[in-house]
Amino acid sequence: MAQPDSKEPSGDEVKGDEVIDKASLTLKERLHLIAILDRPSIGTVIVSLVCASVLIFGFLSYGNAQLKLTWFSLFCLAVIARIFSIIYWRKQRCTSFYDADKHILHISIGVCCIGFLWGLYAALVVPKITNSIELAATITIFTGLAGGAASTLSGSRKLAMSYVLMLMIPLSTVLVLNSSALSFLLGCLAFGFTIVIAISAFRSANFTLNTVKIRYQNAKLVEELASKNQAILEANNMLETRVKERTAEIYRLSNIDPLTNLNNRFAFSTRLKTLMEKSDANGEQFALFFIDLDGFKTINDVHGHEIGDFVLSSVAQRLTSLRQKDGLLCRWGGDEFLATTNDNDEKEICVLANSLITVLSHPINTKAGSVSVSATIGVCLYPIHGHSESELIAHADIAMYQQKNDAKGNVRLFSCDMQESITRQAYIKDGLASAITNNEFYLVFQPVVDTQSNTILFAEALIRWQKNDETIPPDEFISIAEQFGFIQNVGVWVAEQVAKELTTFKCTDNLCVSINISIAQLMQKDIATTFSSLFASYAIKPAQIFVEVTETLLTTNTDTLINNLNQLKAAGFNIAIDDFGTGYSSLSQLQQISPKILKIDKSFVDNWDAGGDAIIEAIGTISDKLDFDIVLEGIENKNQVPKAQQLGVHLLQGYYFAKPMSMAKLQTWSKAKTKSAS
Ligand code: C2E
Ligand code: CA
Ligand code: CA
Repeated sequence: MAQPDSKEPSGDEVKGDEVIDKASLTLKERLHLIAILDRPSIGTVIVSLVCASVLIFGFLSYGNAQLKLTWFSLFCLAVIARIFSIIYWRKQRCTSFYDADKHILHISIGVCCIGFLWGLYAALVVPKITNSIELAATITIFTGLAGGAASTLSGSRKLAMSYVLMLMIPLSTVLVLNSSALSFLLGCLAFGFTIVIAISAFRSANFTLNTVKIRYQNAKLVEELASKNQAILEANNMLETRVKERTAEIYRLSNIDPLTNLNNRFAFSTRLKTLMEKSDANGEQFALFFIDLDGFKTINDVHGHEIGDFVLSSVAQRLTSLRQKDGLLCRWGGDEFLATTNDNDEKEICVLANSLITVLSHPINTKAGSVSVSATIGVCLYPIHGHSESELIAHADIAMYQQKNDAKGNVRLFSCDMQESITRQAYIKDGLASAITNNEFYLVFQPVVDTQSNTILFAEALIRWQKNDETIPPDEFISIAEQFGFIQNVGVWVAEQVAKELTTFKCTDNLCVSINISIAQLMQKDIATTFSSLFASYAIKPAQIFVEVTETLLTTNTDTLINNLNQLKAAGFNIAIDDFGTGYSSLSQLQQISPKILKIDKSFVDNWDAGGDAIIEAIGTISDKLDFDIVLEGIENKNQVPKAQQLGVHLLQGYYFAKPMSMAKLQTWSKAKTKSAS
């Protein structure tokens, strides 16, 4: 059975030696050529039979009847066999048992048999023909059959040429060998004709072969094209899917926070803008929550980033579960989240924010055990508190920040004065960075007067900041300097400036100066050595320096602070507790430090008649027992002096005696005082 050929012919060069060349043709091409051979076969066989009948029966009476009839019988047998073969193979072709090789073999045998019989006729009968009409008819039929074969057998070059030669060579030879000159001439003509027909059969077969090949090459090309088109289509589809996937991935990367799967800053800002436009169109209001976790940093520091990440995604899940329909939610960065709500009633908004804090404060079970965070939430309303998304977010952030400063774990609604205070704070913070290098600080000194001896106990150094045309009070900038880490440098500058200015104080007695020191500054391990070497370098004795620390330090009561204070004391510096009475220090805490001076806060003098005097008296009694002196701050008028003295307090400070002044003025003031005393 013929199997599909794997070998494909290339080009249109025709070669091969089989009837229908197996080596250079594909199965399809071979089948096509067989069909070309087979299609006209019944017609050709009938034409042959008709021609044979004409020759035999038309000229039977012209002699050689026996020979002719015998030949005709053989011819008929061959024709019948051929017809059977044709019918058989036409049926076979429709079955799966069809064998192309055998079919070709049968066609070849059939064609060759008939060709051979014609050749036999030419060899046996033609030499015996005497009648010129019969001879002419015979030559005509032979040449006609040969000519016809050139086209009917064009499916096989070999078969067509063999058939032509089988018919024409015996005829031409017989004619040439005949003694008559006419026969010889006809024989020569027949030879010539044989060559012409053979060439045309050759060409016709080649043409057919090429046509079939080209047809299948084209078909193959079309098939290839179709499969390539299909491949392109598939590639396109794949590309489209990839593009969709990539687009989704790019969207995810640019819009989604990978840790929490919430929207990121970019996506939130875009959506917030849309929400603002929608609210404008509908005349609606919405609230923006700035949620900042409390205690997250500690979890990250103590348990590591893996647990930290887990906490953040748990928080995100909780926020997602509480998110309102249409509400926006995002991770703004670090441990900050933003959310919106369509509620517009301030009370309802605060209830919602508080419930968020409650839910976020529930313990989170992690690999490292149960951990807890809380949250501080700043809220602002659109459109009341901002008109752009950045303004809105900044304002919610400010509200959160303010609340965090006051008390963590609570909610704060933005108000417009918050913005002013934040702007002012930022201005001060920025200015502090360059205030020392720009020489914007200077000191003033306010004396503490001993009303018994009419001398100066010490002068308190108070810092002033002249920034451009404005004098920024220390009450405003000291806390900001503490908050943003500028206080150490400011403290060092004050101490050094005090030392410098003390060297300019020319009086018989050495002036003592008190320096205000913040807790942050006192936390520095080496403060005692820094102070010692600093004042030593200006030849100022530590006994001339009072260090004023606020009473709140006592309640902070960390070992470092107490140690540092004790080291300062050990180095010879005097300790004064400032603003006494405003904090909640206990006697035992006071004893731990045993300061030299206790400065009672001005508020007691201000509330003299509302119980302030009783407290001052009580403190006076304690001071006697614990052996420290009391200074009363804020003496503003003449009447307050005898009142203080009656309570046993004779160390006084206040505008009544002197306002803070420059060292030069203090010197003049001091001289005048000494004169009046003597
Ligand atoms: P403080 O240590 O309690 O300083 C006393 C403040 O009360 C000073 O204000 C002083 O000018 C003011 N004062 C004094 N007598 C009177 C009076 O009779 N009536 C009224 N109404 N006020 C009086 P100032 O200079 O504005 O200082 C404010 C605070 O700033 C100080 O309070 C102190 O805590 C802080 N401070 C000032 N200078 C420094 C410094 O160099 N370092 C640090 N860390 N803090 C400083
Ligand atoms: Ca003070
Ligand atoms: Ca004070």
